[in-house]
Amino acid sequence: MKDYCLRATAANGKIRAFAASSKFLADKAAAMHKTTPVATAALGRLLTAAAIMGLMSGNEDDLITISIKGDGPISGVLATSDGRGRVKGYANNPQVDIPNKPNGKLDVGRAVGMGNITVIKDLRLKEPYVGKLELISGEIAEDVAGYFAISEQIPSILSLGVLVDRDQTVKQAGGFLIQLMPGYDEDLIDKLEAKMQDFPAITTLLEEGKTPENVLEMLLGEFGYEITETADIEYYCNCDKDRVTGAIISIGKDELVKIIEEDGKAEINCHFCDKQYHFDKDELVKMLHSL
Ligand code: ZN
Repeated sequence: MKDYCLRATAANGKIRAFAASSKFLADKAAAMHKTTPVATAALGRLLTAAAIMGLMSGNEDDLITISIKGDGPISGVLATSDGRGRVKGYANNPQVDIPNKPNGKLDVGRAVGMGNITVIKDLRLKEPYVGKLELISGEIAEDVAGYFAISEQIPSILSLGVLVDRDQTVKQAGGFLIQLMPGYDEDLIDKLEAKMQDFPAITTLLEEGKTPENVLEMLLGEFGYEITETADIEYYCNCDKDRVTGAIISIGKDELVKIIEEDGKAEINCHFCDKQYHFDKDELVKMLHSL
């Protein structure tokens, strides 16, 4: 079993849609970062959104980063994706522990709090595109949909969900995105809004055994749709010693001299996968000489 994302078109090209199952990547992120259930949900939702946006951009080398910063106890969540469906991310405070909502659901909105969402699209042009706006609820799906509507002027319906099991592993995760393309009419908006009124949560559908294909059929069946792409999505960190070396060199000569004199070595943990990189004195001195 693998995570994957479908891309579809409907209503004669007036609708663009995506549906994803992301249980394995959300679970890998949770295990790697040792997240509490509410942090697992926040990170899993954002990773799913990033995977969808990475596939949307279409080019393999594009990099999409979504950063959410808030005044809640999780402090921030970040996810990044390339155009091949490879995502990675982290929560600033993976150990955040707050009570569930009165209805028993994980309170992602309270964990995140009030703040901003920033989307950085590095499409390998001169300057990356950066969109930043205030969070709507901190529940993530609403905030990313707000980004599309305001920064990109694309009316969007986004649903993201992560169901955490009793043993704290991820039982279900996934999401769908429906976007209206230029030339849509009000009638289409009315029909979609009516449909969303009583549409089940994505995790409820996945828990019933529904696939992303089934979800698209439920969403778009009446609009005449076609699946145009099926892509694997996965949690993948591309860190290696060269990249980490680059990061150490970038701190500058003075800092590097200080580390060599005071510690004589450096231990660096990758934010995204927690892999540890060790540098001994000789390696650090070599870096210094390369400056
Ligand atoms: Zn890494």
